[in-house]
Amino acid sequence: MDFALSPDLVRWQERVRAFVAEELQPHDAAIEETGRVPEEAIEGLRRMGLFGTNTPTAYGGLGLSMLGSCLAIEEIAKAHTAFYYLSGVNVHIGSKPIEFAGTEEQKRRWLPELASGRLIGAFALTERGAGSDAARLAMTARRDGADHYVLDGRKIYITNAPEAGLFTVFATLDPALGSRGIAAFLVEAGTPGLRVGRTTEMAAGRGSHHAELLFDGCRVPAANMLAGEGKGFALAMRCLDAGRTHWGAYCVGAAQRLLDLAVARASSRETFGQRLREHQGVEWMLADMAAALHGARLVAYEAAWRYDGDDASARTRAAAMSKLIGADMVQKVADTTLQIYGGAGYSKEEPVERIWRETRVVRILDGTSEMMRRIVARDLYRTADRRNAVV
Ligand SMILES: Cc1cc2nc3c(=O)[nH]c(=O)nc-3n(C[C@H](O)[C@H](O)[C@H](O)COP(=O)(O)OP(=O)(O)OC[C@H]3O[C@@H](n4cnc5c(N)ncnc54)[C@H](O)[C@@H]3O)c2cc1C
Repeated sequence: MDFALSPDLVRWQERVRAFVAEELQPHDAAIEETGRVPEEAIEGLRRMGLFGTNTPTAYGGLGLSMLGSCLAIEEIAKAHTAFYYLSGVNVHIGSKPIEFAGTEEQKRRWLPELASGRLIGAFALTERGAGSDAARLAMTARRDGADHYVLDGRKIYITNAPEAGLFTVFATLDPALGSRGIAAFLVEAGTPGLRVGRTTEMAAGRGSHHAELLFDGCRVPAANMLAGEGKGFALAMRCLDAGRTHWGAYCVGAAQRLLDLAVARASSRETFGQRLREHQGVEWMLADMAAALHGARLVAYEAAWRYDGDDASARTRAAAMSKLIGADMVQKVADTTLQIYGGAGYSKEEPVERIWRETRVVRILDGTSEMMRRIVARDLYRTADRRNAVV
C-alpha cells in the first residue's frame, strides 16, 4: 500500500491551497459581516475549475478522480463555508444526477454549464415531513398526457435555491409504493408553477442560502425525468454517496485549519511563565487533535478511492463512515481549539467560533450521523448474515 499522493495531485493540492489563501480567505470576515460572497471570489472559483472538479472533461469539467476532487474540497474548507456551499455542492448533488442518469443530450446541454459555474444546480429531496425518512416524501408527480408530468408540493432547506438555474426534484408517482414510487425530474428555474420561497436563516453559513421550493401545478416535459419511474430514490442515494465523500474531506480541511490556528495560538500565548504549548494539558489536547485528524484523513482518502471503484456497497459504506467520523472529529477539534483560545475563541474577533458553528451542520445534512450509523450497521448485518449462511 502506497500512502503518497501522485506528483500531479500534489501539484494540484498546492495550487488550490495557494488560491484559497490568496483569493478566498481574505474575504472570510467580510462575508460573515455582510452575508455576501464577492463576485471576484466566485470568478476565481470558476477560473480554477472548482465548480466541476469531478465532472468528466468530455462535459467541461476537470475530470479529476474523486481523490483529486476531495483534495480541492479539503483546501476550500479552510476558507468561509459559503465557498463550499456554492462550488462543492454544485460538484456533487448539483451535477451528479445528470452525470449518472441524464441522456447524452441532457449531459451536453447542462454539465458544461454546471462545471463552469455559469449555472448552479440544486438538489431538492427534503420536505417538512420527510428528512431522514426521505422515502416518505409527499410531493407528487402525475402524468399529464403522453409528454408531461405535473409536480405539486413543497421542499425545504434547499441549498443554493435562490441562485440555482436548475433543480433535480424528487417526487412520488404513488405514495403507496414508498421509495419505489419516486422519480427524479430536472426543473429549470423560471418554469411556471415553480417558486423559490422563504430562505431559512441557519446557525452558520452566512452568504449561502437554503430555501423553500413551492411547486403548484408545475408542468415539466417527460423527457426531463432522470432514470425512469420508480428509480429516483436510488439515484438520490447514489448522488448522496458523492456528497458524503466530499463532506468527509470538508471536515478534514476545516479541522486542519483549526489545528493550525490552535498550534499558532498555543505557541504565542504565555501563562504561568510558559507558552501554552509547554503545559502538558494543552500539549495533549494538540496531540489528540492531530491524531484524530490523521485518522479521519485516511478514512476520507479511502472513501474517495472507493468512490472511483466498482463496488457500490463498499462505496456507500466508506462514504457514510467518512462523513460520520469526519463530522465527530471536526466538532471535537473545533471545540478544543476554541478552548485553547479561551475567551478570544468564543469572541467574534477570531475565526474559531465561526468555524465551530459552521462545522456543526455536518452531523445533519446529506444524511444525519444517525443515518450514517444505520448504513454502516446494515452493511455489517448483511456481511454477518452472508457469512452465517455459508457456514
Ligand atoms: C444547512 C442545510 C442544508 C441542507 N441542504 C439540503 C439540500 O440542498 N437538499 C435537500 O434535499 N435537503 C437539504 N437539507 C436537509 C437535510 O438533508 C435534512 O435536514 C436531514 O436529512 C435531516 O432531516 P430532518 O431535518 O427532517 O431531521 P429528522 O429526519 O426529523 O431527524 C431528526 C433527528 O432524529 C434522528 N432520527 C431520525 N430517524 C432516526 C432513526 N431511525 N434512528 C435514530 N435516529 C433517528 C435524526 O438523525 C435526527 O437527529 C439541508 C439541511 C441543512 C441544515
